[in-house]
Amino acid sequence: VPEGHSIRHFANVHYQFLGNTAVRASSPQGRFSDEAERINGLTFGKPTTHGKHLFFHFDDQIVHVHLGLYGWFTVTKRPQDTDKDTIRLKLENDVCTSRLTAPTKCELITQDKMESIISRLGPDPLLDDSDPRFAWDKIHTSKKTIASLLMNQSVIAGIGNVYRAEILHRCQVNPYLLGNELSYDKFMEIWDDARYLLRIGSVSGRIRTVPNDFLTEKEREVGGHAQFTYVYKRTEQPCRVCRTIVAQAEVDGRTLYWCQTCQK
Ligand SMILES: [Zn+2]
Repeated sequence: VPEGHSIRHFANVHYQFLGNTAVRASSPQGRFSDEAERINGLTFGKPTTHGKHLFFHFDDQIVHVHLGLYGWFTVTKRPQDTDKDTIRLKLENDVCTSRLTAPTKCELITQDKMESIISRLGPDPLLDDSDPRFAWDKIHTSKKTIASLLMNQSVIAGIGNVYRAEILHRCQVNPYLLGNELSYDKFMEIWDDARYLLRIGSVSGRIRTVPNDFLTEKEREVGGHAQFTYVYKRTEQPCRVCRTIVAQAEVDGRTLYWCQTCQK
């Protein structure tokens, strides 16, 4: 599932291969055909992101993409001639083809609309100019759990279910602690860890939260292609730190994982 790190990663990859070139745009699926026609042949500028929202800039046109739970980009260096009718947006130049499938949002928007989308989001730990105080203001006055607050994109933008579980474990915070019970120092620890982990993740496009010391020898051999976590999706498996069996519960329709020993 794409979280903020994937969005930043996709932005970088698209800019690397399509940046400052005239791109051909189409919608093999047909649901974005009129819009694709309007950007077809325009120059692909530097994409911007905020949390899980991606903005492609073509001259004065902006395409807003939100991948949701199932959306994905497939970027290949060779031209792709076989078009599946699931491709909402296809972008290509002579070196690369990008195919977007199953996004929650893919829309042509104005600058004003982009600003209004961003204004509803909390600070994004991946952006240099983000101010964590905006997130702190909402958290320390809230009676909601920190687990729920971290998933709320209007509080902090870019964290999803995997990072939520992993960050709370790494910072040893009980997910059921209420926002108004969290200390400022703990909040800053969470913010800094989010910033650190999202940055690492945005480089590879993969979520990495567990240092090698906590991996088994076998896992180390598998390397970067697998996703290793402290608690996320470790159903009936032990916490990597204390060996307590990982606890899980449904919160707001998503499964929360945590360690009842490390995160008292
Ligand atoms: Zn533990």
